[in-house]
Amino acid sequence: MYNHAPENYVCPLCQIARGEVTSRGSQEEAVIYRDARVTVFIAGCWWRSNPGHVIVVPNIHKENIYEMSPGLGGHIFDLTSQVARALKTTYSCDGVTIRQNNEPAGGQDTWHYHTHVIPRMTDDHHYDNLHNTYWPDMDEKRPYAEKLRAFMQK
Ligand SMILES: [Zn+2]
Repeated sequence: MYNHAPENYVCPLCQIARGEVTSRGSQEEAVIYRDARVTVFIAGCWWRSNPGHVIVVPNIHKENIYEMSPGLGGHIFDLTSQVARALKTTYSCDGVTIRQNNEPAGGQDTWHYHTHVIPRMTDDHHYDNLHNTYWPDMDEKRPYAEKLRAFMQK
């Protein structure tokens, strides 16, 4: 319903959920939690103002929130809240922002439902720097992943 993925879309978030190699290499070291329904990982693309933000995805391919089933949506919310606590504890951030985009008009550009969990610092000017992004390599992501993975396993 209201889908925008092109024909023959190779979904990078399905690949990450299944532990497969993506066009940017294996992301397994960035995965901080996975169960039968949901995978949680350090984002591939970062805002320079907010390093180490986290993505929560259903393992099953759902393009957007319109397709979300109640039980799965609830589980995603529970994990999102656990990730928010993990960011507070392990990054010592001042706040947390949750963002979830649907359709191009809503800012979506990857066609698999995903929730961003973003660490915020006082005066980080996140909303003034939404286009200031880059793709860190695994060496940069690893320390963030290790901290969060340890918290999620508690
Ligand atoms: Zn997918």
